[in-house]
Amino acid sequence: MNLHEYQAKALFREYGVDTPRGILAHSADEAVAAAQELGGSVWVVKAQVHAGGRGKAGGVKVAKSLDEVRQYASQMIGSTLKTKQTGDVGLPINMVLIEEGLNIVGELYVSAVVDRASRRVSFITSAEGGMDIEEVAEKSPEKIHSVGVNPSAGYFPYIGRRLGFAMGLDKKQVGQLATLLQGLYNLFVEKDLSMVEINPLIITGDGKLLALDAKIGID
Ligand code: ADP
Ligand code: MG
Repeated sequence: MNLHEYQAKALFREYGVDTPRGILAHSADEAVAAAQELGGSVWVVKAQVHAGGRGKAGGVKVAKSLDEVRQYASQMIGSTLKTKQTGDVGLPINMVLIEEGLNIVGELYVSAVVDRASRRVSFITSAEGGMDIEEVAEKSPEKIHSVGVNPSAGYFPYIGRRLGFAMGLDKKQVGQLATLLQGLYNLFVEKDLSMVEINPLIITGDGKLLALDAKIGID
């Protein structure tokens, strides 16, 4: 079973993994009210469907006014979204997540899966965030880094530091990543997840790491 982005992000926040601020909306009116409550002047309207690749398919839109928030929300809600991952029929959009629009200076990739053979949780990271990770793995496997967590020892910050330095992060961001992966590991183990993916994990203009996208699979 996969969770929606808004549900996955709520779990992230419970475990100390920072996300953009966002409010769920089921109608264009709710979308505008959500944007007003969030404040600011740029919002992102995000279709809540169980599929990635929404951005390229028109399911993620940047709005620079409340009118645009209304326009994008009313276009999305009640329509179907066809992405690379949905097949030809597409998926119905019943709700949208309204998020604050952030200043992105870097996009990373982070995921965790269970390696069935060793029964370990493995973290996989890459500095090539926001892209199709299968494609990165195929064309430049050296840009993908992974570390397995010994289940009897649990997570240690050096795991995050190793992955952070491998991605070329600066010292402050490496520290943030080490803490973030601790939260992700706790979430993974306590909620018995089968996979978690953050693509992209962004670096904001003020140097913070935030989970911009969120995918969670539970057995
Ligand atoms: P998907 O993977 O389904 O295409 P994402 O959540 O990864 O959806 O969003 C696609 C892209 O849209 C991101 O890589 C980013 O460039 C942009 N984006 C998404 N959310 C925000 C946000 N809150 N602020 C700024 N840009 C965003
Ligand atoms: Mg994404």
